Amino acid sequence: FVGEIDGPPKSGVALGRSGHTGRVSPALVWFRRDLRLHDLPTLLSAADAAGSATAVFVLDDRLLRPGPRTTFLLRCLRALNDDLGGRLLVVRGDPVTVIPRLARDLGAGSVHVSADHAPYGSRRDHAVEDALGEVPLVRTGSPYAVSPGRVLKGDGSPYRVFTPFRKAWLEHGWRAPARTRASTVTWIDPDGIRGRASIPADEGSLEVALPPAGEAAARTRWRQFRDDALDRYDTDRDRPDLDGTSRLSPYLKFGCLHPRTLLHDLRDRSDPGATTLRSELCWRDFYADVLHHRPDTARRNFNGRFDDIRYDTGPDAERAFAAWQQGRTGFPIVDAGMRQLLAEGWMHNRVRMIVASFLTKDLHLPWWRGAQHFMDHLVDGDLASNQHGWQWTAGCGTDAAPYFRVFNPMTQGEKFDPAGDYVRRWVPELRGVPGKGVHRPPFGSSPGYPDPIVDHAHERRVALARYAEIGSR
Ligand code: FAD
Repeated sequence: FVGEIDGPPKSGVALGRSGHTGRVSPALVWFRRDLRLHDLPTLLSAADAAGSATAVFVLDDRLLRPGPRTTFLLRCLRALNDDLGGRLLVVRGDPVTVIPRLARDLGAGSVHVSADHAPYGSRRDHAVEDALGEVPLVRTGSPYAVSPGRVLKGDGSPYRVFTPFRKAWLEHGWRAPARTRASTVTWIDPDGIRGRASIPADEGSLEVALPPAGEAAARTRWRQFRDDALDRYDTDRDRPDLDGTSRLSPYLKFGCLHPRTLLHDLRDRSDPGATTLRSELCWRDFYADVLHHRPDTARRNFNGRFDDIRYDTGPDAERAFAAWQQGRTGFPIVDAGMRQLLAEGWMHNRVRMIVASFLTKDLHLPWWRGAQHFMDHLVDGDLASNQHGWQWTAGCGTDAAPYFRVFNPMTQGEKFDPAGDYVRRWVPELRGVPGKGVHRPPFGSSPGYPDPIVDHAHERRVALARYAEIGSR
């Protein structure tokens, strides 16, 4: 792929040729967060290196916790296997032992992946690389339009603020889509390969309404959104009552679709809808970049000043946390969001910000507890976007996000769910309350629906006082 600007495949060795015979050994294509066949540079690098390849996915128990995200992943794997004509080799185990063993068993001359920049993934890949010995691990591309670590300030340091990052990101640009499809590589039939597992059944979390899985579904959803809703995206994207966002996040999470494909489709558009979507995709790259430079921020405050903030603890705090998790806080927009999360494994972005602000600033609980709950339930759960979305809202993250910004759940609801439809959809106890009045139901008015568990005006003052305590230390 000539003309690429995101770095060439790491090479320099004659891949896949067995020294004495000159015969080309097969390659191994190891799928991870790139469960697609179109616009997948890894396939070009495998085709360059070898006449044929085995497609493999490793079921790594450290990553596969039961829940809707794993269910969605398993369905995406089934779709990929179908797209490969049943030739996906699925194996279970620790990739550090499984991949080198497979490479040996198959006589593979090279292993091809899209780079993983997340903390666990990059550590794992270095360990696999060591264990592979002579066989190169060839990293081509990444799940991002611009790979983490590539956009730097003039002095070589990473960006900490989004707007200048976006400017540099746009100037850097991204490569054209790779023209790949299933037939780019001659796939080896994996029948009889030692350790072959089947894709596990996923009935465990069928109570969550998941979107259709796989690359074809992702491409269909993108086309629908692009043709029907993108024109209004810049205005509708903040409205949880409308179907105004792309809902592509689960597909982007597992690479059923690459952001470069979307950006390429938008290349001739400078209308507000397209410009806003480009910017949102840049947030995804930005947070991956931040986590790449500061892997500690998966668990710790980006801004260490916040290490001293006081949180609530004890039985009342635990009861409040449980009410938040279950969508029973008595704040309708918060409860609607938390129930949408449990029912769909997804929540609208505006509402993610509202519920995150509520947990950290009205209930005075640590952001990482909320982030963990999100990761347990989100189908699009992604360490970089999630932890930094939380940190941004809590005020301890990147950007000049003002810590003193405390969302008022009632006015947020009235502004972004103006007729109250979103709340009534997710909180059946309030279906009898008409219009935007649903955001401030009178105390005790709706049987089965709790009264507010805190007084927002009071908690706002408490939050501001606690922030003042840490001051400019
Ligand atoms: P669209 O509005 O259609 O946006 C298109 C794509 O742009 C998204 O699919 C996503 O890939 C990217 N994007 C949009 N907004 C953001 C953003 N603020 N940060 C990073 N990428 C963005 N997104 C995740 O993908 N995984 C998460 O785990 C996640 N956790 C979040 C937690 C909090 C507290 C907050 C405030 C935001 C979080 N986000 C997360 C970002 C955002 O809410 C979702 O990406 C978005 O709601 C997904 O819906 P969509 O695909 O319809 O978005």
